[in-house]
Amino acid sequence: MRLICWLRRDLRLTDNTALDYAARTCDGDVVPVFILDPAILNDGYVGPAITAVTLEMLRTLDQALRQRGSELIIRHGDPLSELKTLLQESQADGVVWNRDYTPFAVRRDTAIKRWLKHHKRVARSFPDAVLVEPEGLLTKSAGNPYATYGPYARRWSELAFAQVERVTPAPQQLAPVPASVTRQPLPTLAELGFTLTQTLPPASEDAAQQLLLQFFDRRRALSAVTYATARELPAQPGTSDLSMHLRMGTLSPRQCLKAAADALAAPLTASERQGVDTWISELAWRDFYNQLTFHFPHVLKGPYDKRYAAIQWRNQPDEFAAWCGGLTGYPIVDAGQRQLNQIAWMHNRVRMISASFLVKHLLIDWRWGERYFMQQLRDGDPTANNGGWQWAAGCGGPSAQPYFRVLNPITQSQKHDPSGDYIRRYVPELRHVPNSFIHTPWLMTAQQQQQFNCRIGVDYPAPLIEHSAARARALDTYRAALQPDK
Ligand SMILES: Cc1cc2nc3c(=O)[nH]c(=O)nc-3n(C[C@H](O)[C@H](O)[C@H](O)COP(=O)(O)OP(=O)(O)OC[C@H]3O[C@@H](n4cnc5c(N)ncnc54)[C@H](O)[C@@H]3O)c2cc1C
Repeated sequence: MRLICWLRRDLRLTDNTALDYAARTCDGDVVPVFILDPAILNDGYVGPAITAVTLEMLRTLDQALRQRGSELIIRHGDPLSELKTLLQESQADGVVWNRDYTPFAVRRDTAIKRWLKHHKRVARSFPDAVLVEPEGLLTKSAGNPYATYGPYARRWSELAFAQVERVTPAPQQLAPVPASVTRQPLPTLAELGFTLTQTLPPASEDAAQQLLLQFFDRRRALSAVTYATARELPAQPGTSDLSMHLRMGTLSPRQCLKAAADALAAPLTASERQGVDTWISELAWRDFYNQLTFHFPHVLKGPYDKRYAAIQWRNQPDEFAAWCGGLTGYPIVDAGQRQLNQIAWMHNRVRMISASFLVKHLLIDWRWGERYFMQQLRDGDPTANNGGWQWAAGCGGPSAQPYFRVLNPITQSQKHDPSGDYIRRYVPELRHVPNSFIHTPWLMTAQQQQQFNCRIGVDYPAPLIEHSAARARALDTYRAALQPDK
């Protein structure tokens, strides 16, 4: 038997459920394929960073496959028609893949499975990208999906830890792909119509493994055991930086949870244990948002609570452009946006502050920000990104902060970047501004602005809006949407 293994967001050899199944079932006679789908590449949400990362992951995956006697077949086109051609060319008996859960992926995969079955071909899909599948965890009483994180997370752990046993090794040797299969070169980023301006880290299965090892190396000053507190300080590398690997699957969530379980098996102090536990809870958030879009697909188009669709956004294009470019006059927001524009990643705390600022302070539709993040991020994930933006917008439901909680970008900045190191790294105009003004540079006198080499309105913008006025305006706007008759 020969099987096509259709790789999508699982670009690794180790602990790849579908690949492991195919290799064992066919004694290594597997045709690994990745299909570049124009429907995804041109949907307006995919940007150069994640595309560049994916191409590099594909290149390194091909190298790894070649070391095992195989190679990665690349196709560019509609997945069903590409698979039909490949089935014919390779004389394979069917196709296997790991499941994806967005509404788009579910529709696509269902149609492909139907076609394969109708034509009496093998069609098997596997749970792989998450620790607990969306339909694997429903409320005990009514069998409904969870809409809030707390009760979901409490039951998630037991199911997730059971998955750690499933980690599989990479296949040792694979059969060569038949000569009858047409080879297409991996396109360049330019050929796909993208231009990269951001700096990206190494993107391969080896790089992911190295980051995971580093993060669980307790000899380092910052690691999983310090995560509970260090993760709130954007100036420090206190988080794992594994998001793009989890996004495109150069690392599996089971490998992550296994590393965490091994860490917890060692003697740890209470605070160290809390560090690892907190990190595990982020993997639960990842699954939670994934199941949320699966069960409530409308969130990808609008607010979870549909009453919030009535919000009258201001949607000022010049203010949106200022936010995108890191020119709002609020240092922590600008540092975050510039970090995003420079390295295609933003610290989670700053994602929260910046998203909240766009939605609440500027009253710009959260979907504008959601899309900009997707276009810039190297870890852009429709489910986690949507969840983060729904949270920031406070549009009801799942994890949303109530709409009347408006993050204060000044106190958030003072709390999470007390010495201003993060701000100075990304906003060089503020390099010489002392700590007493780093979060509120507009409060400097004209003389101080001269002295610290930062003239407000000339070298660095004045704030787009004053915080308490913005807060009051946001609350009025949200209230008006919820109580239209008052
Ligand atoms: C507005 C907004 C947009 C976001 N967009 C994305 C996105 O497009 N892609 C993305 O992967 N994450 C997104 N997040 C979640 C989070 O910011 C990133 O996962 C995290 O910053 C990645 O850094 P890390 O790998 O060092 O994470 P760590 O803190 O080390 O966490 C480990 C892993 O857990 C997962 N994770 C962590 N936090 C969350 C979360 N809140 N929700 C879901 N999964 C989480 C990620 O896979 C991450 O790699 C967003 C958050 C907000 C507030």
